[in-house]
Amino acid sequence: DAFIVKVSKAKALNAFIVETPEHALAAAAAADEALARGEALKPLAGVPIGMKDLFATKGVQTTAASHMLEGFKPVYESTVSQKLWDAGAGMLGKLNLDQFAMGSSNETSYFGNVISPWRRGGGDNAPLAPGGSSGGSSAAISARLVPGATGTDTGGSIRQPAAFTGISGIKPTYGRCSRWGVVAFASSLDQAGPMARDVKDCAILLENMVGFDPKDSTSLNLPVPKWEELLSGDLKGKKIGIPKEYRLDGTPEEILKLWDQGIAWVKDAGAEVVEVSLPHTKYALPTYYIIAPAEASSNLARYDGVRYGLRELADGQNLQEMYAATRAAGFGPEVQRRILIGTYVLSAGFYDAYFTQASKVRTLIAQDFENAFTLCDLLLTPTAPSAAFALGEKSADPLAMYLNDVFTVPASLAGLPAMSVPAGLDSAGLPLGLQIIGKPLDEQGVLGAGL
Ligand code: GLN
Repeated sequence: DAFIVKVSKAKALNAFIVETPEHALAAAAAADEALARGEALKPLAGVPIGMKDLFATKGVQTTAASHMLEGFKPVYESTVSQKLWDAGAGMLGKLNLDQFAMGSSNETSYFGNVISPWRRGGGDNAPLAPGGSSGGSSAAISARLVPGATGTDTGGSIRQPAAFTGISGIKPTYGRCSRWGVVAFASSLDQAGPMARDVKDCAILLENMVGFDPKDSTSLNLPVPKWEELLSGDLKGKKIGIPKEYRLDGTPEEILKLWDQGIAWVKDAGAEVVEVSLPHTKYALPTYYIIAPAEASSNLARYDGVRYGLRELADGQNLQEMYAATRAAGFGPEVQRRILIGTYVLSAGFYDAYFTQASKVRTLIAQDFENAFTLCDLLLTPTAPSAAFALGEKSADPLAMYLNDVFTVPASLAGLPAMSVPAGLDSAGLPLGLQIIGKPLDEQGVLGAGL
């Protein structure tokens, strides 16, 4: 009840697209009944969480923050959300995000931007971006409207918003979480993951989100480790790699200081720190911004005005005109930009020059990580090149926005588990995050180092 009241009072943040108090109350009632019957409680019995509005929820509007899917009520439940309900959790509502998860500031949502609960100190009261695309999730957790939430991460959308709002979030190894019932953006990159106040809560949520799903052809058929039980912050005997290419020109002094602080912390926890090289780092952003739009342009072809949501059809229009009118009205400008870039790089004349080349570079980036992990167990980097920026500061300049993903996209391209943990405040009093990247399937190592 306390969370339901908080959610209803915090409308100004615009973190929720839909509130579902009845869903959370039903889970709480089920937990009470189990207690009354003397049964053992499920791992998330009665825990109210927020669901990024990219996960299909049966009978509850699922929009991907787009006009295209406004009013769409799926007749099925995504595997990840079903697992959370099976573990006893309940849903407080569907959380706002960048439209189709494309963005780094939550400003591309059809339902309006989310406002971060944080403000800069020193009199500058400009409203700040909560990060994106999981900006509703990060704002809701950081404002304590929900104890935890789901996010999805294609190029950083769990980690960057977590860093901007002083919370924790982990993107597991590609294939750990089923993508079934998650609105597709770039299928070879999309991964769901938990966001929460701290690492332990992330571990508990993650355990109840992952697992083999025959309905997702890229789902990993592996047992689910007991991450929470195994959590240990002891880094004795571990080698932590510091990738030298991440020391980019122009990185603010405060971010470099934060990184040094992180290096001192892992040394204190017993780790040995080694410098490593990821030589293809500088190609990661351009590679990502070819592959992600290419896959998006293909995935978003399904929104044709026939099968889902919106249909724009004027009297006398033919099928082609209906397609064009529906897609022009249903997709926002950033989504249209990605579709145009994606169809261009996949077109017959340019496929080899762009898409094939990007796929090759992606392999080189993955090999960089493999080589680095022969010298170390985990990597430590900043999560983002800056603290949260003001709303409107970058929204007119797509390139400035894309640059924000510079530290997060490489691990996405390589499918590696990666987490952002809160690591302190900058001089304006805004949270900064550090990123820990692990070997494939080493969520345990990532979570432990995050503690
Ligand atoms: N900011 C990146 C993009 O716009 C990442 C988004 C995401 O991870 N969903 O593509």
